[in-house]
Amino acid sequence: MQADWKMNSDRPSRNLYVKQRALPEAVSDEQWKAIVSNDAAYDGIFFYAVQTTGIFCRPSCKSKLPKRENIGFFQTAEQALAASFRPCKRCKPTGQRLPDEEWIAWVSEYINNHYYEALKLESLAQYSHGSPYHLHRTFKRIKGVTPLDYVQHIRIKQAKELLEKSDLAVAEIGASVGLANPSYFITLFKKKTGITPEQYRRQHKQTFEGETFK
Ligand SMILES: [Zn+2]
Repeated sequence: MQADWKMNSDRPSRNLYVKQRALPEAVSDEQWKAIVSNDAAYDGIFFYAVQTTGIFCRPSCKSKLPKRENIGFFQTAEQALAASFRPCKRCKPTGQRLPDEEWIAWVSEYINNHYYEALKLESLAQYSHGSPYHLHRTFKRIKGVTPLDYVQHIRIKQAKELLEKSDLAVAEIGASVGLANPSYFITLFKKKTGITPEQYRRQHKQTFEGETFK
């Protein structure tokens, strides 16, 4: 999921008197636009680091706009710190998570713990004090997938584990991960993995019979 960032070592250094740090990958046009317009919608999505000052910022930072050729981006504040950049005092990129990130982290955690229940966007929004529309949009922006995609991902992941480690019937496994309709469960499983639950079990079942009969 997380795209690689790589050091851009072939870029010429601009100032010999500043301690040289490895400059991260150059910002895209979209990222540059976000920085120029202080677009807070990109906060938490990426951070930009300024080679000449050794400081990194959130896209929404109101500090003076650096030259584009002097900046690169990191996906997380941790990566920027690891590359020896210091957090900006103004926009505090290592500070508290933003309210939206906090919200989506809470919803994800709720899904992780309640995937076997009947989960609807409306109820997730209600439990987390937001509107369904806003939750859908914000979840997609921060996690890259919709809440429904995420619920399905967790359910299929749990189903795989049960197919590998238990002797429960396929229908029972579907029911225990929140997909009580067996034909829907099988269809969704096949859509997500390319094979049926039975096929998956045959390929991955952990069998100890060999050892038992030795
Ligand atoms: Zn800043």
